[in-house]
Amino acid sequence: MDLQNIGRGARPDARLHRRVEHAVQVGVVPARCKRGLHHLHGDRYTASITDGELRVSCAACFAEPNPDHSWVLTFDGPAPDRLVLDDAPYARAEPHFVQRPVSAR
Ligand SMILES: [Zn+2]
Repeated sequence: MDLQNIGRGARPDARLHRRVEHAVQVGVVPARCKRGLHHLHGDRYTASITDGELRVSCAACFAEPNPDHSWVLTFDGPAPDRLVLDDAPYARAEPHFVQRPVSAR
């Protein structure tokens, strides 16, 4: 248990993958929500950026509500101007769950 972070927001799940396309900073975020249950295209997620941290919240998980609705991705430098969805860079990410995923019955 990571006592330091209780009540202070979640630990980062991964580094934000990013690239530059035509001088535009593009952040690559996972196409599936942190719990792996929902696709995040269209209006099914909200993104918020605070100091060096991008949070990608799944609308469906947020509505449950489930404490693990957000990916927390850290980055250095300027905030991305635009986001694209792509699971590939995050295939090896190991998200930190507040709530242990419940195994299927
Ligand atoms: Zn979800």
